Amino acid sequence: MSDIQIKIEELRGELRKHNYNYYVLDNATISDFDFDKKLKELQDLEEKNPKYFDTNSPTQRVGGSITKNFETVKHKHRMYSLDNSYSKEDILDWEQRIQKNLGDVDLEYTCELKYDGASINLYYKNGQFEKAVTRGDGFQGDDVSANIKTIKSIPLILKNNSHRTFEIRGEIVLPLDGFNKMNQERLEAGEDPYRNPRNTASGSLKLQDSAEVADRPLDCLLYQVVADDLPFKTHFEALQDATKAGFKVPKTIQLCENINQVFEFLELWDTKRHELPYETDGVVIKVNALAYQDELGYTAKSPRWALAYKFKSEQVTTILNEITYQVGRTGAITPVANLEPVALAGTIVKRASLHNADQIEKIDVRIGDTVFVEKGGEIIPKIIGVDFDKRPEQTTPTKYITQCPTCNTQLVRKEGDAKHFCPNEFGCPTQITGRIQHFISRKAMNIDGLGAETVALLYENGLITNYADLYDLQQSQIVPLERMAEKSAKNMIQGIETSKEIPFEKVLFALGIRFVGETVAKKLAKHYKNMDNLIRASFEDLVHVDEIGERIAQSIIDFFKNSINIDIVNRLKTYGLKFSLDEATLQNQTEKLNGLVFVVSGVFYEFSRVALKKSIEDNGGKVSSSISKKTSYIIAGDNMGPSKKEKADKLGVAIISENDYINRIK
Ligand code: AMP
Ligand code: ZN
Repeated sequence: MSDIQIKIEELRGELRKHNYNYYVLDNATISDFDFDKKLKELQDLEEKNPKYFDTNSPTQRVGGSITKNFETVKHKHRMYSLDNSYSKEDILDWEQRIQKNLGDVDLEYTCELKYDGASINLYYKNGQFEKAVTRGDGFQGDDVSANIKTIKSIPLILKNNSHRTFEIRGEIVLPLDGFNKMNQERLEAGEDPYRNPRNTASGSLKLQDSAEVADRPLDCLLYQVVADDLPFKTHFEALQDATKAGFKVPKTIQLCENINQVFEFLELWDTKRHELPYETDGVVIKVNALAYQDELGYTAKSPRWALAYKFKSEQVTTILNEITYQVGRTGAITPVANLEPVALAGTIVKRASLHNADQIEKIDVRIGDTVFVEKGGEIIPKIIGVDFDKRPEQTTPTKYITQCPTCNTQLVRKEGDAKHFCPNEFGCPTQITGRIQHFISRKAMNIDGLGAETVALLYENGLITNYADLYDLQQSQIVPLERMAEKSAKNMIQGIETSKEIPFEKVLFALGIRFVGETVAKKLAKHYKNMDNLIRASFEDLVHVDEIGERIAQSIIDFFKNSINIDIVNRLKTYGLKFSLDEATLQNQTEKLNGLVFVVSGVFYEFSRVALKKSIEDNGGKVSSSISKKTSYIIAGDNMGPSKKEKADKLGVAIISENDYINRIK
């Protein structure tokens, strides 16, 4: 091994260990800063020494590859469903069936929580990650390896030096904390929040941009090891071994010596599940001995040796005291039920979403009603109905508000919108402060020393009515305000000044154009390079940009059509905010590969794969991870996969070398 190779392996091992400690053991052993530094060091070394490329290097976890069409893969072993049960009787019946089948043997069980997410089948070959396939129809699923690799609790190289080849199955989940954070950010971007963690987790698997998946706080909880001949006697042993190999097998798994212990487990977790960091809707009971599992086998759709038990979804009744209406920064109105406080699923619930006017009408909910409240997959509890028997006399149907609760403007509801809107964009106090609060938020202009409450205070005192006004603020105007001291005023002014260095794509996001979230802002910045180009772009032009749909395009057009917005944007420019991509980013950008789609395969000399893909994108091309009729060229390095070659030949896609590519972009 050369010195460089040794250094590379050393860094990989170290980063692997820190990843494991942090994401599997939940025990950080390095600061984020130092981790990033080491990762960067490794990235640089790999980039300079592409011959040491390794698909399972920790550098591969940041994502960046684009998959247009996920390849369909047949499962080596079928992925079955589970039979459901809802009572102790169901479970006792199941045990009896098994006993009859096996002839009254002593049975041990394992109990695991039923993790609520999307199932995944991970393939390992000689101790290394090979591919990840979704459940699909049970017989075949989609190869989502590029996305799955970005989930850091999934080991790419096994810990115990094992060189085994096997499959391991688990559930991709989105823990509640992370889910709430993602929704917070969506709300800040004026987008609708995701409904529940499960759908969001399963939607993540099929995102085309793996970098976007890498940004999501997904986790993978493992529940079954599969191979033709497993070197274990029991399911429990197999999972313990998986834990040693570095997989995240939840510690909540329990070995039960008899069915009564199973019942104890069900009872315990019926309430305790609400303390878990992720969602579960039941328990999976499995026969522990693998020999018995084999003997029992499968029905047409599920194993006979396992049974899912579903918890009753918790529902309570309480009284609806009041309906209030919230105004978002985009003017969208959300009705909120104010409830008599009630305990539900481990928390005290005081408020629940009523979604929109149609929903209120549909369930005919009225003030004073006794309502059923449920916490299903959704985080915010919802009202699912009314107990009409308990309706007090003399109630009247709920009349949805017609005027904005803050500015009293007549609300409008556009064709196709579920929500009502306050159209008083520039006069409605809640919208005004909401937009400024979005502008200063962490993911936008990230202005230190200025918080949401201070924005409201500045607005109430007539010092700001839009975000451009922030840049005119003087310290002497701020100090006299309530709760303001010399020092905090100074910090605020300093923070505002520093924000002039924030990059263009964040400025674009900060403007708060509806549907222009962080990712869209990045795409627009990259495509248009500066604000003027974007302002001049026509609808037709916009919808031709990758991933910009008609809804986004129209919203951008509407925003810049408005002279008030244009004035504000022009003022921001004169204050010196960044209105174009910086020189360093710009220099490498060309349009030479516009409209071309590339697939990259094999090992290269001049570029690492990451660098090659970046170069393609910098030059206006697109990278796809699978070959299709849309592929323009395959850039083949050493050791291009034979299946890719075959597919390319079949579809008649041209294969070019690394040198051909370099000549092309020169
Ligand atoms: P169902 O989709 O209702 O038929 O249930 C089967 C699914 O439950 C499997 O495909 C898994 O994705 C999921 N599941 C969650 N937790 C477990 C677990 N501990 N053991 C087995 N399957 C589980
Ligand atoms: Zn209003």
